[in-house]
Amino acid sequence: MRIILLGAPGCGKGTQAQRLTDRFHIPKLTTGDMLRSAVRAGSALGREAEQFMNSGALVPDAVMIGLIRERLTEKDCAAGFLLDGFPRTVAQAEALDVTCRAVRQTIDNVLEFEVPESEILQRLTGRLVCDKCGAGYHAVTQPPQIAGKCDRCDGNVVRRADDSDTTVRKRLNVYREATEPMIAYYAGLGVVRKVNAVGTVDEVFERLCSLIDRN
Ligand code: AMP
Repeated sequence: MRIILLGAPGCGKGTQAQRLTDRFHIPKLTTGDMLRSAVRAGSALGREAEQFMNSGALVPDAVMIGLIRERLTEKDCAAGFLLDGFPRTVAQAEALDVTCRAVRQTIDNVLEFEVPESEILQRLTGRLVCDKCGAGYHAVTQPPQIAGKCDRCDGNVVRRADDSDTTVRKRLNVYREATEPMIAYYAGLGVVRKVNAVGTVDEVFERLCSLIDRN
């Protein structure tokens, strides 16, 4: 099973990606998490990516394509994978096609999350995350029990550097300009299934599962 999740920042892809990989036992390739751990590790990739991420810009295609191409050839991806946050541009989608053809794989599920922009803004500007286990919270709708402390581990609950009001607006502009044409590219191939991503995590998860082709 090879799944791509598409949708604006803050549409809930990350939360559902975790649920889907738990349900279908396939690896989750979340490019934002891969880059954030490279930044934390201070690797060459992290140093290159950090400035783009903090300003809300996209990391250059060549870097991202190389990262995913390498990851997709690892053994655990042979039986399937879930992509979350990649592709984000038409060039990335085209490169993914080439890579899949080279390893004789086809993407069988392209799922687009639909959430109104007003809700996206509300979700992103209140979003909090545990810096250790990655658990998600929201300052207003789902705060941690003890302010600043994760309910599940001893990590700290923080705001992502790129979730400030200005950077969120920049990321949404980048999404419209660079990522929406990529969605149009998949739509042109007739493979996109749209999912109403407003509702509880369980409701959205059930909608996704009912759409997924389990070949
Ligand atoms: P995310 O966690 O998916 O919102 O990604 C956080 C940031 O990582 C983005 O704003 C970009 O700077 C960078 N990033 C993640 N995935 C990609 C990608 N496929 N192409 C370019 N930049 C990316």
